[in-house]
Amino acid sequence: MYYQRQTFLVAGLSRSGVAASGFLRARGARVYCFDDVEEGSVAQAAASLKELGCVIVQKQELEARAAECDVLVLSPGIPVDHPLPVSFKRAGKRIIGEMELGALGLHCPAVAVTGTNGKTTTVTMLEGIFKGAGMNALACGNIGRPLSSCVEELGEDGLAVIEVSSFQLETLFSLRPHVAVVLNVTEDHLNRHYNMENYIYLKSRLLKNCAESEYAVLNHDDPIVRGFAEKTKAKVIWFSSREPVEGGYLNEGSFCYMGEKLFPVSELPLDGEHNALNALAAICAAKLMGVGTEAIVSALKSFRGVKHRLQRIGELGGVSFIDDSKATNVDSAIKAVRSVRGESVLLVGGKDKGYSYEPLFDAIRNSGVVHTVIYGENAFRILSAALKKGYTSVTLCRPFDVAVRVAYLTAKPGQNLLLSPASASFDAFRNYEERGDRFREMLSVLSEEGRSGEPVGEDGIAGE
Ligand code: ADP
Repeated sequence: MYYQRQTFLVAGLSRSGVAASGFLRARGARVYCFDDVEEGSVAQAAASLKELGCVIVQKQELEARAAECDVLVLSPGIPVDHPLPVSFKRAGKRIIGEMELGALGLHCPAVAVTGTNGKTTTVTMLEGIFKGAGMNALACGNIGRPLSSCVEELGEDGLAVIEVSSFQLETLFSLRPHVAVVLNVTEDHLNRHYNMENYIYLKSRLLKNCAESEYAVLNHDDPIVRGFAEKTKAKVIWFSSREPVEGGYLNEGSFCYMGEKLFPVSELPLDGEHNALNALAAICAAKLMGVGTEAIVSALKSFRGVKHRLQRIGELGGVSFIDDSKATNVDSAIKAVRSVRGESVLLVGGKDKGYSYEPLFDAIRNSGVVHTVIYGENAFRILSAALKKGYTSVTLCRPFDVAVRVAYLTAKPGQNLLLSPASASFDAFRNYEERGDRFREMLSVLSEEGRSGEPVGEDGIAGE
C-alpha cells in the first residue's frame, strides 16, 4: 500500500486504532483520527496521537473530514454496516482494519489462529513452544498486542503468532500465514454477523491467501471446519481427539503426531477435551514450523493456562471458585460444564448475542452442575431456555454481585462455584476481564464476611 500523499481516517481509538495511527504516521501518511467517545482513555489516546501529528476529528466535522480521506481504517469494534464505513463504500473507497496494515508491513513468517473458541489459549501455547525452541516469536493480534505495532520488533527473523477474530477478518485481506489454524466454528456474534453462513464465510477467509506451499491446520472433529479443506489450496493437516488422522490425534491417552507418540494427555496441566484439542492444534502448527518434539513437550507440560479461562482462583468454606469469564458464548460454557470435575453451581448471564441457550441446558443435564444461578440483561432469555428444556434447578437474580453471593450460599463444601457466563459482559462490565476480576473481588469480600456473615452494603452489593 502507498502511504505517502494518502489520507487515512482511523475510526475507533482503542489499542488497535492507536497502533494503526502510529504505523501510518511512521510511513508518512496523513492521519485523521475519530472516536465517538471523547473522554477517559480515548481522550488520552487522542492527546498522544496529536503529538504524533494526527488530526483529531470532532463529531460535528466527521462527514466533511471523511470526504477528504482515501482509506478508512476501521476498528474491529465498529461493524462494517455502520454509517461511516457505508459512506466510504458508497464513495468507492477502501476500508481496512488495523490488522491489514500489520499484514502489509510484516516481513517475517506468520502462524495465524482463528476459531470461535480457544484462540488465545492456542496462541499462548504456541508462543511458549516457539520461545522455548529459541525462536523470536511474538503472540499478537486479537490477544491484545496489535499486529501493526509488532512488525518492527519482529523484523525479518521473528515469527508472528497471530490471533485473528471474525471481526478482524471482516477487514483483513492480505495476511498469508505459513500455517493457518482453524480451531472450531460454533454459534457466536450472530448479533454482528447476522447468520451462521456469513460467520462461517468470514472464518474461512483466513485460508483464502494460502498457497500450495502453506499449511491449513484444521479440526477434523468439527464438521464446519472439516468443510474448509475444500476451500483452500494449502496442504491440510488435521487434528482430532476422536480418530487417528493425518496430523495430530490422541492414541491410548497420549498426544500423537503423524505416528509419533509425544506425551500423556494427563500431563497437560489443563482440564477438558477442548484443551487437548487446542494442544493438538498447537502441536501440528509447531511441527510444521520445524520445532522438535522435546521443545513442544516441555512447553506444553509447563503451560499454566490463561487468566479468566477455567482458572481456579481460590477456595472459601470448601467451595472452589473457578473463573471462566472468557466463556462469552454457549459453546465455551458447554465445554466448561463438561470439563470441570466434581459438582458445581454454575453462574450464567450477561449481554445477549442472539443465539439459543437451549444446548447449554442439554449439556448441564449430563454434567456435574447441580444448580444454575442466572443473572444479567439476558436472564429471562436464559431462564426461558432452561424451562423449555425442563430444567428447574435455577435461581434468577440480578445484579452480578448478588448472583455471586446467592451462588456461593447455594454451593455446598466440596462443590465448585463456576462462573462460565455463555454471554458477553457489556451489560454490566467494560469487558470479560473486568467481570472476572469482580468475581475474584467477590471471593475476597465473601471471605472477609465469613460464610454466614451479613452482606456489606445495600442489597448485598458489596463495595457499591
Ligand atoms: P478465544 O480467544 O477464542 O476467545 P480462549 O482461549 O480465550 O478462546 O477461551 C475462551 C473460552 O472458551 C474459555 O472459556 C475456554 O474455557 C473455552 N475454550 C477454550 N478452548 C476451547 C475449544 N477448543 N472449544 C471450545 N471452548 C474452548
